Amino acid sequence: EKWVYSFGGGKAEGRADMKNLLGGKGANLAEMSALGIPVPPGFTISTEVCTYYYANGESYPPTLKDEVMTALGQVEEIIGLKFGDVANPLLVSVRSGARASMPGMMDTILNLGLNDKSVEGLAKRSGDARFAYDSYRRFIQMYSNVVLGVDHHNFEEVLEEVKEDKGYRLDTDLSADDWKKVVAKYKDKVKEQIGKPFPQDVHDQLWGAVGAVFGSWMNQRAITYRRLHEIPEAWGTAVNIQSMVFGNMGEDCSTGVCFTRNPSNGDNEFYGEFLVNAQGEDVVAGIRTPQQLTISGKQAQSSDLPAMEECMPEVFKQLNAVRHKLEAHYKDMQDMEFTVQQNRLWMLQTRTGKRTTKAALKIAVDMAREGVITRKDAIKRIDPASLDQLLHPTLDPKAPRKLLARGLPASPGAASGKIVFSADEAEDWVVNKKEKVILVRVETSPEDIGGMHVSEGILTTRGGMTSHAAVVARGMGTPCVAGCGEIRVDYAAKTMKVMGQIVKEGDVITLDGSTGEVFLGAVPTIQPEMTGDFGTLMEWVDTIRTLKVRANAETPLDAATARKFGAEGIGLCRTEHMFFDPKRIIAMREMILAENETGRRAALAKLLPYQRQDFIDLFEIMQGMPVTIRLLDPPLHEFLPQTEEDIAEVAKAAGVEPSVVTARSAALHETNPMLGHRGCRLGITYPEIYEMQARAIFEAAVTVSHETGRSVVPEIMIPLVGARKELDLMKAAVDKEAAEVFAEKGHSVPYMVGTMIELPRAALLAGEIAETAAFFSFGTNDLTQTTFGMSRDDSGPFIEVYRQKGIYEHDPFASLDQAGVGELIKIAAERGRAARAGLKLGICGEHGGDPASIGFCQTAGLDYVSCSPYRVPIARLAAAQAAL
Ligand code: ADP
Ligand code: MG
Ligand code: MG
Repeated sequence: EKWVYSFGGGKAEGRADMKNLLGGKGANLAEMSALGIPVPPGFTISTEVCTYYYANGESYPPTLKDEVMTALGQVEEIIGLKFGDVANPLLVSVRSGARASMPGMMDTILNLGLNDKSVEGLAKRSGDARFAYDSYRRFIQMYSNVVLGVDHHNFEEVLEEVKEDKGYRLDTDLSADDWKKVVAKYKDKVKEQIGKPFPQDVHDQLWGAVGAVFGSWMNQRAITYRRLHEIPEAWGTAVNIQSMVFGNMGEDCSTGVCFTRNPSNGDNEFYGEFLVNAQGEDVVAGIRTPQQLTISGKQAQSSDLPAMEECMPEVFKQLNAVRHKLEAHYKDMQDMEFTVQQNRLWMLQTRTGKRTTKAALKIAVDMAREGVITRKDAIKRIDPASLDQLLHPTLDPKAPRKLLARGLPASPGAASGKIVFSADEAEDWVVNKKEKVILVRVETSPEDIGGMHVSEGILTTRGGMTSHAAVVARGMGTPCVAGCGEIRVDYAAKTMKVMGQIVKEGDVITLDGSTGEVFLGAVPTIQPEMTGDFGTLMEWVDTIRTLKVRANAETPLDAATARKFGAEGIGLCRTEHMFFDPKRIIAMREMILAENETGRRAALAKLLPYQRQDFIDLFEIMQGMPVTIRLLDPPLHEFLPQTEEDIAEVAKAAGVEPSVVTARSAALHETNPMLGHRGCRLGITYPEIYEMQARAIFEAAVTVSHETGRSVVPEIMIPLVGARKELDLMKAAVDKEAAEVFAEKGHSVPYMVGTMIELPRAALLAGEIAETAAFFSFGTNDLTQTTFGMSRDDSGPFIEVYRQKGIYEHDPFASLDQAGVGELIKIAAERGRAARAGLKLGICGEHGGDPASIGFCQTAGLDYVSCSPYRVPIARLAAAQAAL
């Protein structure tokens, strides 16, 4: 078996498509090397070693050491240096790299291979003792922190002392001798902290670092990140060991991060930042303000510092060539890391670049137009769930606002919330106090992930567009303003100061992540539009998909939103939702609490005009598209009056004593209302309810059809059917009402009567039921509850534990349980269609807007999915992807 894969010198044993084995970083380093792009030589220890390590009591495969030594030897040969050599020491970096990029893993260790002797060799060879000792002290600090567990502050204190002693202000004031002293003190510190000297044997250093990478796979940060992003533990991480190049050897050296296209807006322009005379993560850490790569980038950021295009034109040309080469090769926007050592460019990483949804759409549409990819590829590239970012409100341009400060537009979207100053507080406020928060930090680090995840928005005072906060926020779709230098944060006092003003923890601010502005207080927002690249992609989507997409809507506003987002009808109009309005709820309660049919009919007569008008509005807005109306369904307790005031009101409306209402309310109490007197059981026991609703629907349909001359096709849906006979009775009642209304008005409309399939019994008996039903709509919220025997409202406390223990992979209420609930759907579809050819099939639970569930609906042969209006574009895209 082979455990180690080499790259460098224009060759490589790995390839980009070997990510599972080599991790993303290793696979792409190999690919770049094979493409002839300058990559410092190195090798990758495969993810299988990680798996082996954990399966075998944290030990390595017996042949690993030999393979590593051989690979190291090849590196030594390519660059003519020797690992551990006193005169010409080879230094390496040790970098973790899982299949998916994973913050939370071990930090990279740079300059490994330095010790008290080789540092002198480095000093001689480079002719720069200051650089050599600075590199050594960086290595001691990084290694001691990451591998030996010595906290950073130990080293920071030492450095501060030395600086104070000498009266220095900046690190750059230290001479070679000063760094030598720092190194000695660092080593003392390590000994004091761990009771052992800092390892001088370079092989001990190397294996210590390798062990730390594998160890970090199981650290808390990594585990949390994997849980949030559903990354399986079994994947493991690879370790990359790569010869060092130095961006910190002087003014002709630099290090940076760049994107082949603009990751914020998708523009086809080279985009990136770099620091002169700097090493490693200095750019990402936001320690100094970076310079822009291009002149236009510099102008866009109104930066005073020269762009690389101006101050290092030759290197810029090389880098720009690599940009074109990599993008053409990968056919997607790349995110790259590079270092320039003495005017020589080295690429250290490339990967598919994270981007905002807006940029993703622009890049996909542009690349399809450029002929780089097909339209189908463009459609496949967009994560349907990510569209959510564009379907949310932005700041109302007309709303008054008070600008507090301006930072970088690091992740688009607008958000308001109460400010908190730590990730832990953010989690506490959101989870326990149910508050919406904006997380304010000087800068963020991987430990803050949990708090960032729950925050509405993120504000940092330091760091650029590629800082941790910016990258993570874009990935999460959370609005972020980064590098807002005008704001001074005081963590101890839990305040921030800006323009002489103090803003305290708990005060509300608003962020506009698209402009980088920060406002005091909450600023109102407006609705999004589906235009530009978004509109174009959605047009392409509609030529591909075969599933129709409808919306769950009952109010005119929801129906109008649904149409705007391209819904092709209403798949679920929940009539009970039309009665929560304060004016109506009294009559509704009166109806529910009536003692007999006469009382109920009196209350229903009050509801009829409201109901009729609602349907008129819906039919008008939907302009002839199908509208599925579900007759009254709710567990009655949802409507029972709770307060004395409510009881008095209902009593007055019904003309009875409050005590009568109280008694009736008590009599209606149910132990398990979700499985109680609801759905068609109401229609069976009180047929007058469904009669009124059917009458309202037909009167409205006749009116609109007569007035507009357009067809109106109501699809009347009977809920919670478990036996064919229930549906037979209810359909007969609806048909009778239709005949009466059509006769009265002298005008008729076509209509359908169908049912929801939301009980396992209904799914199993679908063949019989389809003899009466003209359509089925799978009510997967209830079908999930009834199949699992698990209440959606009560599953919160245990479902997370179930997921952690791997009993359920997903929350079955969020993503359809294909194995169980899905099987019932397939059975119902098959038996239903066998009984009635062309039986119309749809889904109207939450799952109708979940991309994975939509994929299932396509396979199961459904005709349409129905989801909340804001998810309609997501469903359209997911449906197209399912059809590809
Ligand atoms: P991450 O996964 O956090 O990006 P990396 O392994 O990419 O970590 O390394 C962090 C930083 O160290 C990057 O800026 C990278 O460019 C730099 N780096 C890594 N290996 C080397 C090397 N061999 N020579 C110079 N810089 C390196
Ligand atoms: Mg890192
Ligand atoms: Mg990196």
